[in-house]
Amino acid sequence: MDIRELQSKLSASRKILITTHHRPDGDAIGSSLGLYNYLLLKKHEVTVVTPNGYPGFLQWMPGNDKVVDFEKDTERARQAVAAADIIFCLDFNEPGRLEGFSGLVMASKAFKVMIDHHLHPDNFCDITYSFPAASSTCELVYELICSFGDEQMINRAIAECIYAGIMTDTASFRFSSMRANTHRIIAHLMECGAVNYRIHEAVYDTFSPDRLRLLGHCIDKMKIFREYNTALITVSAADLERYNYQTGDTEGIVNYPLSVEGIRFSVFFAERERRVKISFRSKGDFSARDFAAKYFNGGGHKNAAGGHSDLSLSEAEALFVSLLPSCKKELNS
Ligand code: 5GP
Ligand code: MN
Repeated sequence: MDIRELQSKLSASRKILITTHHRPDGDAIGSSLGLYNYLLLKKHEVTVVTPNGYPGFLQWMPGNDKVVDFEKDTERARQAVAAADIIFCLDFNEPGRLEGFSGLVMASKAFKVMIDHHLHPDNFCDITYSFPAASSTCELVYELICSFGDEQMINRAIAECIYAGIMTDTASFRFSSMRANTHRIIAHLMECGAVNYRIHEAVYDTFSPDRLRLLGHCIDKMKIFREYNTALITVSAADLERYNYQTGDTEGIVNYPLSVEGIRFSVFFAERERRVKISFRSKGDFSARDFAAKYFNGGGHKNAAGGHSDLSLSEAEALFVSLLPSCKKELNS
């Protein structure tokens, strides 16, 4: 990446705002707090603002207690935007992914920097570091710190955040986005103080019994469409209530059907307050992103994408099933 322009902007102490996408995931929070901890060491004034809240299993990272939630603390978020010289947009590629926070960010005159790995970035930042081949935005933040010549400044706090984001965006280092160099970065982060098993436990081993039972329920309800190598899970608002749904409880459920032999496309529909939230995962060449973008107002990566529908849960399911025949060839290649 050409970092000279950014490096010169950061050569004096700045007021910096870091933000990330709505419903932040591990990479969103990891990259935001990894960069936050680094920029603090560089003597900047830094605030992380998320468009809304995020699950408890992401609330352990160093700096988490300073994160401002735009939905809960709109006035502080507004002040942070108003004060900012520089705004970092991490792990998203279009302003719409900020949902309600997007108006404030887009109206700001601050210098904007995108660091992201989603396909097809919109042109809304002054500098766009977009590398869809990267495993995660965390990996890009690591590379940015190294290209500033500050590798030796990576302390335990920074290392833990970056480790967590690479781990969650690669489903624990197993996706094809994991390159040999990503493993080298992970090794270095461990040398910098990230304790691997503690991070895995903090993210993956903090289920409530209800959350695990909800997972069991979803897997029980899974439908398999053999002809299309596809699996579908739908969960209704009533089901979620029955299992005392908390933010984050459905995270990762979409990945399970991919462990069924032959399944190359897994889709998860969850009935939320106003709309149906959808997750798509694929293996190989079938583009979950293109499918999400074409039919379900979404986007993301080739093998991991999301979207939504304003139809009812059963109508959205029927639409999905009706679309499968048109993809039969791609799903069988
Ligand atoms: P998830 O299924 O975990 O919510 O999202 C999977 C991937 O798709 C993530 O990289 C996420 O950023 C992206 N994604 C999820 N929902 C949307 C959406 O509504 N629009 C776009 N453009 N990307 C999404
Ligand atoms: Mn990501």
